[in-house]
Amino acid sequence: MSFAKVMELEDRYGASNYAPLDITLVRGEGCHVYDEQGRSYLDLMSAYSALSHGHAHPRIVAAACDQLHKLSVCSRAFYCGTLGPFLARACELTGMDKALPMNSGAEAVETALKAARKWAMLERGMADGEAQIIVMEGNFHGRTISIISFSSENAYRRGFAPLTDGFVSVPYGDIDALRQAINPRTAAVLLEPIQGEAGIRLPPPGWLAQVRELCTQKKILMLVDEIQTGLGRTGDLLACDHEQVKPDGLMLGKALGGGLLPVSLFLARKDLMDVFTPGDHGSTFGGNPLAARVGLEALNVLMEEHLIDRARQHGALLLAGLKSLRHPALRDVRGRGLFIGMEFDPAQVSARHFCQLLQKEGALSKDTHGTVVRICPPLTLSEEEVGQAQGCIERALAALR
Ligand SMILES: *Cc1c(COP(=O)(O)O)cnc(C)c1O
Repeated sequence: MSFAKVMELEDRYGASNYAPLDITLVRGEGCHVYDEQGRSYLDLMSAYSALSHGHAHPRIVAAACDQLHKLSVCSRAFYCGTLGPFLARACELTGMDKALPMNSGAEAVETALKAARKWAMLERGMADGEAQIIVMEGNFHGRTISIISFSSENAYRRGFAPLTDGFVSVPYGDIDALRQAINPRTAAVLLEPIQGEAGIRLPPPGWLAQVRELCTQKKILMLVDEIQTGLGRTGDLLACDHEQVKPDGLMLGKALGGGLLPVSLFLARKDLMDVFTPGDHGSTFGGNPLAARVGLEALNVLMEEHLIDRARQHGALLLAGLKSLRHPALRDVRGRGLFIGMEFDPAQVSARHFCQLLQKEGALSKDTHGTVVRICPPLTLSEEEVGQAQGCIERALAALR
């Protein structure tokens, strides 16, 4: 079957909720992906951090293959040998007490919301249905009905009502607005330490620590979504570590699956996680033996191959290189670690068009919100590949003229 046919089938029989670039990928290895003609591209978006370890990481693939021959799925009706070690390692690394395994990121966020509401009832004495959760404008936490209910993005919400109640939105990075929004019904604050989908938006320095202090003082839960920023992406294990902030509840996903599987976790302090009792929450595939084995290997590879240091060093190098670029259409370059956004003037060029130019130059990425191009390669990016990335971006920028 020709690849034109493959694309045609996907477009004809698939829902059109995505608008992929005109390219069919057939293979990936490390920081590179290959199209059907064998042409190689540098992966500059790593599936929104799901590929932080690079494509087909040999150790993670080997662990998955080994586990596939033993036991892949058994449901949580029974204990399995791989879940305990995975959860223990995740807790040990993040400093959390307990973890609840799910599959997608959105499910980990839903779990956090459920935990916070039940905690408010049990620990804060609120009535069932009374708890409010404060969220940030520009947030992205996934696509379930409850999560899109508090999205500031009209397109994510329109047509999907009735929406879920109980959320209050405040401007991102504004500590005074947050302080003012807190009332006796406030159970939790949910935030991303750097907003990815919104265009790699960094909050003002010190804001995370201020939120932590405010939450502690008001006896409110600080819930941090590190599904995209976590596991080394920003040059720290967690983006929160940048300000030595420890949340009460933490969501991980994407990179946790080692580039192979959807694996997510909600991690929390013991008293928060202990609101769950047998039967009140669950997932058929959550924490299955294969996912747990892959998740553990993903964490071990991250630490043993020093991917966090790489993200910090090579991210600083790439960010400095990109910041030095000058072009009338390039408005801003910002980021931390290997979490970088290039913002373009929409009157001069769409971010999508820039991605198309980038593709011609041998690198792939994705625009967000029409104006920002993500530069978020696998954390395994070598110093030589930093140079390659810089070269592709320079040539694409030159092609704009
Ligand atoms: C991707 C993402 C999610 C949702 O994860 P899915 O696996 O797509 O459900 C949630 N929060 C953040 C910050 C994300 O980047």
